[in-house]
Amino acid sequence: MKIIRQAKIYAPEFLGKKDVLVAGGKIQKIQDNIVLEGNVDIDEIEAQDMIMFPGFIDSHVHITGGGGEGSFSSRTPEIMLSDITSAGVTTVIGTLGTDGTTRTMTNLLAKARGLEEEGITTFVNTGSYQIPVKTITGSITDDIILIEKIIGVGEIAISDHRSSQPSFEDIAKLIADARLGGMLSGKAGTVNFHLGDSKRMLDILFEVAEKTEIPLKHIVPTHTNRNPYLFEDAIKYAKMGGYIDFTTSTVPQFIEEGEVECWKALKRVFEEGIDMQNITFSSDAQGSLPRFDQNGTMIGIDVGKVSSLYEAVISCIKNGEISIEKAIMTITSNPARIYKLKGKGFIKEGMDADIVLVDEDTLKIKSVLANGRLMVSNEEILIKGTFEK
Ligand code: ZN
Repeated sequence: MKIIRQAKIYAPEFLGKKDVLVAGGKIQKIQDNIVLEGNVDIDEIEAQDMIMFPGFIDSHVHITGGGGEGSFSSRTPEIMLSDITSAGVTTVIGTLGTDGTTRTMTNLLAKARGLEEEGITTFVNTGSYQIPVKTITGSITDDIILIEKIIGVGEIAISDHRSSQPSFEDIAKLIADARLGGMLSGKAGTVNFHLGDSKRMLDILFEVAEKTEIPLKHIVPTHTNRNPYLFEDAIKYAKMGGYIDFTTSTVPQFIEEGEVECWKALKRVFEEGIDMQNITFSSDAQGSLPRFDQNGTMIGIDVGKVSSLYEAVISCIKNGEISIEKAIMTITSNPARIYKLKGKGFIKEGMDADIVLVDEDTLKIKSVLANGRLMVSNEEILIKGTFEK
């Protein structure tokens, strides 16, 4: 049992200064002052000058590594537990990427289970960039219904030179399969779409919205801030009620070339009057950040980081002057609702005890609890992954 005293709670809505009682991996009680009767064995965490957030959700992480666009030596490494927890993230959705040949669904599932054994919560998407989707059971719908960790499909590449050039029919069928799997298993049944730099942008998704009866809630386009024209198209799509995801991992060259920084993107969303609950951030961590020349030849490569997720939120608060509630929603309550992650994304009685404590002035991450277990305490990593030194 633990009691966290007097943090300013953003649940994500502001609840004021309260005490939070954690037991059995859940948030048991939230009150102004919790008084304990008798002799109870309990850890007290003083959080007077701290802000409390729900544990962060990173909905797009290449947990087994990704990349490979510059041949085998450019395959990125697997993620380690503390890369995730030190960034305040307590729930990840793992995904394959460009490479669906040497990266497999069984490997992704094993890695997700490994991270869960080490203490965080994990889910995965089935498939990679390519169509037809390489599933575990042979069917998208069956994967979602039968395999507990699989909650959707992705990332499927569209409008990108690395995609398998799917047709409208391919895409409509794929979303329909995900929807059916989601309906029959009580999961979200979402399709995460990787958007590239092609001028076709979100065309195929607008076509799905126009020509089919599939609800938009099954579609999550990502990397929609990667260039100015795609961003404008994404704003148009969001105005129709669609979800959009912004990628937080970046390098200075991308920003120089026109990538829309997350804080600028979120500010624009707010100014346009778009429903802020439909916006998520994800890190694309362990994904490669390849740089190509005009002929599509790779000229350099970097790796995305989970730490970029909350850094982008801090930027929204500091540079974008967006309220803490609205900024933090993008990595807590919004992904929890969109991906139907039970027990996640809120500081509320009965929810999982995934908690991040940050310094009130600097917003720096101090302590992190995942399922009630203290993973990071006062910036010190207490729980390390099996092979971390
Ligand atoms: Zn991608």
